Amino acid sequence: MIIDDITYDIIVVGTGAAGGTLAGDLAGSGLKVLVLERGVQLPIEEQNVADVGLFRKDRYHPKEQWFGTDGDPFSPQTLYALGGNTKIWGGVLERMREQEFEGLALQEAHAPAWGLGYGEMAPWYTQAEDRYRVHGRSGVDPTEPNRQGDYGLAPKPIEPFMEELRLALQRHGTHPYDLPLSWSQSPVDPSGDAELFGVDRALEPKGTITVRTGTEVTRLHVNPSGTEVRGVEANVAGQNWLFMAHHVVLAAGAINTAAILLRSATDHHPRGLSNGSDQVGRNLMNPQLTSILQLAAEPNSGRYPRSLGVSDFLWGDKNVSFPLGTLQTGGGVLQDALFSESPPVLSLVTKLLPNMGLEQLAARSVSWWALSPVLPDRHNRVSLRGDRIQVNYLHNNREAHDRLVYRWVDTLKEVEADPLTHVVKTAPTHPRGEAPLSVVGYACGTCRMGVNPATSVVDLKGRSHEVANLTIADASMFPSCPAVGPGLTVIANALRIAAELKALIR
Ligand SMILES: Cc1cc2nc3c(=O)[nH]c(=O)nc-3n(C[C@H](O)[C@H](O)[C@H](O)COP(=O)(O)OP(=O)(O)OC[C@H]3O[C@@H](n4cnc5c(N)ncnc54)[C@H](O)[C@@H]3O)c2cc1C
Repeated sequence: MIIDDITYDIIVVGTGAAGGTLAGDLAGSGLKVLVLERGVQLPIEEQNVADVGLFRKDRYHPKEQWFGTDGDPFSPQTLYALGGNTKIWGGVLERMREQEFEGLALQEAHAPAWGLGYGEMAPWYTQAEDRYRVHGRSGVDPTEPNRQGDYGLAPKPIEPFMEELRLALQRHGTHPYDLPLSWSQSPVDPSGDAELFGVDRALEPKGTITVRTGTEVTRLHVNPSGTEVRGVEANVAGQNWLFMAHHVVLAAGAINTAAILLRSATDHHPRGLSNGSDQVGRNLMNPQLTSILQLAAEPNSGRYPRSLGVSDFLWGDKNVSFPLGTLQTGGGVLQDALFSESPPVLSLVTKLLPNMGLEQLAARSVSWWALSPVLPDRHNRVSLRGDRIQVNYLHNNREAHDRLVYRWVDTLKEVEADPLTHVVKTAPTHPRGEAPLSVVGYACGTCRMGVNPATSVVDLKGRSHEVANLTIADASMFPSCPAVGPGLTVIANALRIAAELKALIR
C-alpha cells in the first residue's frame, strides 16, 4: 500500500452533483481539501450527447456489472467521471414542494418527513439556482413552491413546435411551464453540470484544493475504537493507496456511498461502517419513470433539451386524492441519455413507422417522461455480493404511476384530436416503456438522515451518528423520494452541508 504523506483537512469522495458542488463551495475557505474521483474528465465529444451513438449499448455504462433482484448481472447506466451523472443529465433543476418535506400521503402510505422544512431549504435552493445558472420563469407551474422573486435568468427559448404544443395543452386544461434548466450558454458545452459549476470552481488558481481523478475509493479505515475515520483506501491504476484527513465526506452517489460503508466493516462496525441502525443500503428509492412517445407531424431535429413541465396531476386527479407525479417533455430523442435506455419504446415506434432509421424515427417523435415518487422500503436495498454490488429493488406506489401514464396518454389523444393542433399526429397507440433497473441515475435513499440514530445513518447535518468525523452529502441522505428530479435538492443540500463543515472545521 502506498501511504500519502499529506494529512488534509477534508477528503471529499465523488465529484457529482453533491461532491462537485461541495468541493466548489470549499474553494477560498483556506481548508486543505483532497477530492477523490474514480472517473476521469469526459472528453467534450462524449459530453455532446446529441448524436445517434447515444444508443450504443455501452455508452455511459461503466465496465463493472451489478447483480439485480433476480440475481442476474446487469450493466447500470451511471457515469463515473469528473462531474458524475450531471455530465449526462437533462439539467432540469426543480425544487421539491413544501408538502414533500413535511411527509406526503402517497397512494400506499405516508412518505416520511425530512426533519427540516422547506423554509430551511429555500435559501439553499436560491443559491443552487444561482450557482447552476438555472433559467426559468415562476408563476406558471400551479404547484410551484413559494419562492422569493423570479429566476435570475429567463427561460431558454424552446423549439417552435413545442410552443404550439404548449398552447394545445393549455386549451385542454393543463398548465405547461418552462422547465427550469441549468444552462451555461457556452456554445461548446451548453448544459450546466457539476464539473463546470463545482469542480472548476474548486480548482481556482492558488487554491488549496487538490482533485485526483482515476482514484476509486474502496473502503474507509477507522481508529481502534471505531469512533473516527483515519484513512481512505483507494485503488489508483491497480495500486492501493491510503489518504488521510481530519474529516471525510462521502458523495459517491446513492449506490456507491452505501457500498463503500458496507465494505468498511470492522469488529466495531460488523454490518458496515456507521451501520448500527442496519439502515445503510436500505430504503433505496428509484422513482418510477415511463417514457411515452407521440408522433410529430413534421420532422424535428431530435436534438434539443427538455422543454415543458406539467404538474397538474401532482396532487391527484378527478376522483383521485393521492399524488400521481409529474410530467415533462423528454429532450430530443437523440439528445436524452435516459431515453436511450428504453429500447422497447423505439422498437414500438418502428412498428408505427416501418422502414425508418434511428435519425428519422427520432425526428418524427415527441417524447415525454412521467415520473412518480416511490416510498422507502427496507427490502429495497444495496448490499454486497462478495465485493460486488447487489441491488434488490421492486417499485411500489404502482397505481399512482399507472394512473399518471394513462391520464397523460388521454390528454395527448385530446391534443391530437384538436383541429387547431398541427404539430402532432393522431396515432393508434402511444408507445411507452418503463425505465429498467439499469436506469439508476435518479436513485436516492440508502443512508437516510434523521434525528434518531436507531432509524437513520446520519443526522440532519449529514454527520454520521456513530463516526465522529464522517459526513455524507449526496442523494443517499434523502429520507423520501422527490416527485421531481432530485438534482437541485442534491445541490442545495450539498451547499447546506458545505456551510456546516466550514463552521465545524474552522
Ligand atoms: C441520464 C440522466 C439524466 C438525468 N437528468 C436529471 C435531470 O434532468 N434533473 C435532475 O434533477 N436529475 C437528473 N438526473 C439525476 C441526477 O443526475 C442525480 O440525482 C445526481 O447527479 C445525484 O448526485 P450525487 O452527487 O448523489 O451522485 P452523482 O452525481 O452520481 O455523483 C457521484 C460521484 O461519485 C463518483 N464515485 C462513485 N463511486 C466512487 C468511488 N468508489 N470512489 C470515488 N468516486 C466515486 C462518481 O464517479 C461520481 O462522480 C439524471 C441522471 C441521469 C443518469
